[in-house]
Amino acid sequence: MNVTIDFGGTNIKIGLVREGSVLVKTSIPALSDNGLLTRLPDVEQGIRRLLSGAGVSLADCRGIGIALPGIIDGEGKTLLSIKDKYTDALGFDFAGWSASQLGLPLVVENDARAALLGEIAYGNARGEKDAVLVIFGTGIGTAAMIGGEVVRGRHGQAGILGGHLATDIYGERCNCGNPGCLEAQASHWAIPLRAAKLPGFADSMLAGEKDWGYETILRASEEGDAFAARLEADLLLHWGAGIVNLIHAYDPEVVILSGGLMKSADRLLPRLAERVRETAWTPWGTPRFTVAEDPETSVLLGMSYLASRQQHASKGE
Ligand SMILES: [Zn+2]
Repeated sequence: MNVTIDFGGTNIKIGLVREGSVLVKTSIPALSDNGLLTRLPDVEQGIRRLLSGAGVSLADCRGIGIALPGIIDGEGKTLLSIKDKYTDALGFDFAGWSASQLGLPLVVENDARAALLGEIAYGNARGEKDAVLVIFGTGIGTAAMIGGEVVRGRHGQAGILGGHLATDIYGERCNCGNPGCLEAQASHWAIPLRAAKLPGFADSMLAGEKDWGYETILRASEEGDAFAARLEADLLLHWGAGIVNLIHAYDPEVVILSGGLMKSADRLLPRLAERVRETAWTPWGTPRFTVAEDPETSVLLGMSYLASRQQHASKGE
């Protein structure tokens, strides 16, 4: 049994996982503008509450897995780089914190990589060896696996920066510094900023919305809003280009799509698949598409998988 923690931008999710199933989970506000380290006492309390509610003690748990939306070192111990949020956790000794506060070994991994592992170990992509995953959340997270190995690269950044491959070199500058990143054109946080600069926005029903994103556009488009329909068509080109970039880079057999945007999978998936068929260079055929049922659960399951793997490795099994 492992404790798993997913530090998202809005919520911190904590789960207790045994053999590929989340037994219980809870969530506390991330308050990520205040950093990560100030949240650790509440995280610790959240873990203790969750365990006692489930009638489990810390001694019953074998380890902890923490998922973060940034670049992690090859040992799975520290956060090397992150944009905007949680920057106070750079270089923080998570394993030391866990050992002193909870008495458990700990592993850290990028959240999208964890989700990919969770999907392949226990989810809709079970048993696949060559896969890419795209999570359309607040930002756009990605991960890749080749020949059964999750791609990490020399500096820990391979596979996870697919949201930061450009889909328009004349486009918006991203918070990573690169102009035209997929994430800066077509992610939940970026769409309202870009849309507001496009002609016709003021006449759209979107102009009257607050805190809008993926779902709002699709709804407005369905309701006949001409601007929203044009925006949806434009976004499909960006999302399609992002997926084709990943296919060209990593040669996957399956493309796993996840995140809030996939609530509209029925509407989007056929069009994304068609775009990929039209534009990807894959002479062997076309990668299969699959949708992750619950991104949150994939991350927690993946972190538990990694925590267990680390326990086996440290025992030399
Ligand atoms: Zn970027």
